[in-house]
Amino acid sequence: MKIAIASGKGGTGKTTIATNLALMLVDAGKTVQLLDCDVEEPNCHIFLKPVIESSKTQTVPLPTVIKEKCTGCEICADVCEYNAIVVIKGEVLIFPELCHSCGACMLFCPEDAIVEKEREVGIIESGTSNGIQFIHGLLNIGELMSPAVIRGVKDSASDSDIIILDSPPGTSCPVIEAVKDADFVLLVTEPTPFGLNDLELAVGMARELKLPSAVAVNRSDVGTDDVKRYCERENIPIVLEMPDDRRVAEAYSRGDMIVRAIPEYREVFTTCWSHIIELENDIASRVAYYEGAAEK
Ligand code: SF4
Ligand code: SF4
Repeated sequence: MKIAIASGKGGTGKTTIATNLALMLVDAGKTVQLLDCDVEEPNCHIFLKPVIESSKTQTVPLPTVIKEKCTGCEICADVCEYNAIVVIKGEVLIFPELCHSCGACMLFCPEDAIVEKEREVGIIESGTSNGIQFIHGLLNIGELMSPAVIRGVKDSASDSDIIILDSPPGTSCPVIEAVKDADFVLLVTEPTPFGLNDLELAVGMARELKLPSAVAVNRSDVGTDDVKRYCERENIPIVLEMPDDRRVAEAYSRGDMIVRAIPEYREVFTTCWSHIIELENDIASRVAYYEGAAEK
């Protein structure tokens, strides 16, 4: 099962939930991989402290012009949707940071004057921590192509009982890249007006992608009831509530794992996982039922 931990905004406790869920599941005898897909600001490693065993560069294709063949026709600039290529006085200029490696310029160049070369955009590191297979990506500073590094992280995963993806915050392209093929999305939020606003956006994204989802509420005993009322109204289950517990904040500030530092929280994460499995089984049986009905 592949489960993505996502949130409409940063700082909601997404990484805390992803890492502690992973550790609880490993302790329960599952094989678990944790993929930190927040490649602009990965921080799962701060808590898991993995031993990094391998590292590789992540590259993307970048168009390069063969000057001798180029006639300066500007077709490449016209077809580029991202303004990554311009022709000035017959000279082709390419802006690597804007290029999305779509290949259109190369495809449409009438002179076959464009070839692709690989450009490094980040690195992928793999290792282990407490029995968890750990993979994270590090986007190069100033680089915009985070989806490519996220793809590299996901492509590096192997078979295991459970794959947990710690997604970037927000609802933009990098998040879509991280969550799009998950079996389930756990949306982490806080009971504040900002939390509710960003949760609504995240729920909209999950629905657009047709991904089953549930909500985890961090610092659930502060703020207002608006998030709970929204979830009831929208029929979205809340599968985890973490109180505003000073011991959690202290463990977090030390970089400790909550399920190890405060044993009673193991039960909180175990119950959360049971709810997710129930929901997943329920969805799977409903899909099987409707597929069976459609075949009749
Ligand atoms: S489309 Fe090809 S020939 Fe035309 S300007 Fe671009 S690189 Fe040169
Ligand atoms: S590969 Fe695509 S995004 Fe990059 S310069 Fe060519 S057309 Fe533009």
